[in-house]
Amino acid sequence: MASLAVPRDPTPPGPREAVFPLPHRYEGSYTDDWGAAREQGKHEGTDIFAPEGTPIHSITAGTVERARGSTETGWNPLGGYTVMVEAAYDAGPIKRGDLLYYAHMKSQSGLRPGASVEAGEKIGEVGSTGQGPEGTRGRFEPHLHLGLYKGGWSGDDRPAAPSGAMNPYSLLRWLGEDSRALRPGS
Ligand SMILES: [Zn+2]
Repeated sequence: MASLAVPRDPTPPGPREAVFPLPHRYEGSYTDDWGAAREQGKHEGTDIFAPEGTPIHSITAGTVERARGSTETGWNPLGGYTVMVEAAYDAGPIKRGDLLYYAHMKSQSGLRPGASVEAGEKIGEVGSTGQGPEGTRGRFEPHLHLGLYKGGWSGDDRPAAPSGAMNPYSLLRWLGEDSRALRPGS
């Protein structure tokens, strides 16, 4: 019997294809903790609390990048097992080229720099890795640390820390209950 499979549409995703990075029940599981005091300095992200093993989904489609200070397998001495994804398009507060940083994952994602990911693709699981040499875990409660960094376009006047980090809180609000973003399966 001939295959009825239709070739996948090569059209790039629409400009607002973006998903909340954890299952919907965790949409209230974070606060605006940007700038909060941490051992290593001011907090440059948003922590979303969920049990170890909760799936993490890529917010947008994009390309995996190697984060500064991370190994090829994604280990970062602060962030533990991490993935950095460069957004392929604008989506709400995200601008094409912005970098989304997912940290403290339970184990390495297996995604290498240059790999493509889709919006909503599972890229890891919530864990408590980081704050030490590779394999360190359990020094804090499991959560997803989400970082959002400017892509470095000239003329980008959005407020950011010297590292390029921007507060992801309004992005998470947009993806969550205020969302006009795509919600797969709903
Ligand atoms: Zn954090």
